[in-house]
Amino acid sequence: MRKFLRYLGRAMLLRCPVCGKTPIFTPVARTRSLRDWFTPLDGCPRCGYPYEREPGYFLASVWMINYGAGSILGILIYLALEFTLHPPIGILLAAVLTPIVLFNLLFARHSKALFIALDHFYDPHEKDPGDDGGNLPKAETPPRGSGGPAKPLPSPKTEVVHH
Ligand SMILES: [Zn+2]
Repeated sequence: MRKFLRYLGRAMLLRCPVCGKTPIFTPVARTRSLRDWFTPLDGCPRCGYPYEREPGYFLASVWMINYGAGSILGILIYLALEFTLHPPIGILLAAVLTPIVLFNLLFARHSKALFIALDHFYDPHEKDPGDDGGNLPKAETPPRGSGGPAKPLPSPKTEVVHH
């Protein structure tokens, strides 16, 4: 649970979930385009954690998080206005939809960071040890190694007894 909150905290700061130091995105001051704004860096330069595991990795889940959070915001604004000011439907729609669009733009980075953090929490992935080493079962190596060095050991003992 602590680990979970730590990952979430790092995500809200838009930092690498593994080391918590490097930012996931291009710094805001150096953002030149929408693409810079929405696209995370390839991976963490500090610990090597890959932010995007595969192409299309972010699509569904990120929009779910982003729209989910945006919808909750919209519902809250709607309820607050409906029960206090009672504005006409046109103003009500504008007052609800405008913040949602802005929120989705601003929250896009956080939803990606949250997704990376959640994904790392539920399904941590390490770098593969070798080219295909990750797919081989680990139990196969010990019997091969243990059979070899066992044989030459007895021979020095017998020589000592002979003396
Ligand atoms: Zn890192």
